[in-house]
Amino acid sequence: MKTIGIIGGMSWESTTDYYRLLNQEVAQRLGGLHSAELVLYSVDFAPVEAMQAEGRWDDAGALLADVAARLERAGAELLLLATNTMHKVADAIEAAVSIPLLHIADPTGRAIRSAGIETVGLLGTRYTMEEAFYRRRLEERFGLKVLVPDPEDRVLIDGVIFGELCLGVTKAASKQRYLEIIGDLADRGAEAVILGCTEIGMLISQDDTDLPLFDTTRLHVVAAVDAALGDGEGFGGAPSNF
Ligand code: GLU
Repeated sequence: MKTIGIIGGMSWESTTDYYRLLNQEVAQRLGGLHSAELVLYSVDFAPVEAMQAEGRWDDAGALLADVAARLERAGAELLLLATNTMHKVADAIEAAVSIPLLHIADPTGRAIRSAGIETVGLLGTRYTMEEAFYRRRLEERFGLKVLVPDPEDRVLIDGVIFGELCLGVTKAASKQRYLEIIGDLADRGAEAVILGCTEIGMLISQDDTDLPLFDTTRLHVVAAVDAALGDGEGFGGAPSNF
C-alpha cells in the first residue's frame, strides 16, 4: 500500500471526513484491521482564506507547495489536496514535488461520464463556480457541460460554506436553500449535480434528492485508495461504494 499525503485543513471539518473515509475505504477493501497509510499536514485555514479573498493566489500556491514538499519528505507517495478551491494552485503544488497530485476534478469527471451524464450542475465556493480552473478541466477533459447557479444563489452557497460549514455548523434553512438551488439547476437541464466543495457533504446527501449527486470528497477518496492499492486503472478505478 502506498502512503497517501493529505494537504488538509481547508477546512479541518472536511479533512476529518477524508481521514475517516480513507480508512473506511481501505478497511472495506482489505478487511479486518486494515487502515490507510497516510501522512496529514493540516494548515491554519484563516491565512489561506485571507489569501483567497485578497487574490494572493501566488502566496497560497507557495504555501501549499511547501506543505506538499514536507509531505513528500515525510514519506508520502501520492498527494491529495483536500479542497476543490485550492486546486486553482495545483500547478504550483505539482511543480514542488516528484510525486503525483491526484486532482479532485478527475475522478469526478470520470464518474459523471461513466454514468452517461453530459450536463451537470456545479456547487462550490464562488472561486470554484465562477473561475475557469475547475469548470474548464471538466469541460475539456471530460466533455461535460457545466451549469452554475445564478449570481445571488452563488453568493448564498459560498456564504454557507465559509460562514457555516467550515465552522462545523449545519442549518436546516441552508439545507433547504441548497436543495432549492439544486432543483433550479435540474430545471435548467442539469442531469446531476457536483458537490464541488469538500464540506457540502456535511449538509446534503443523496437521500435528500432524486437528482444524482457527485460528492467530490468521496470520489477523491476512492480514487486515492485505488492509487494507493494499485486497484482499478490507477486514478480511474470504479468506485466501490457509490
Ligand atoms: N473545502 C472547500 C472546497 O472544497 C472550501 C474551502 C476552501 O476555500 O478551500 O472548495
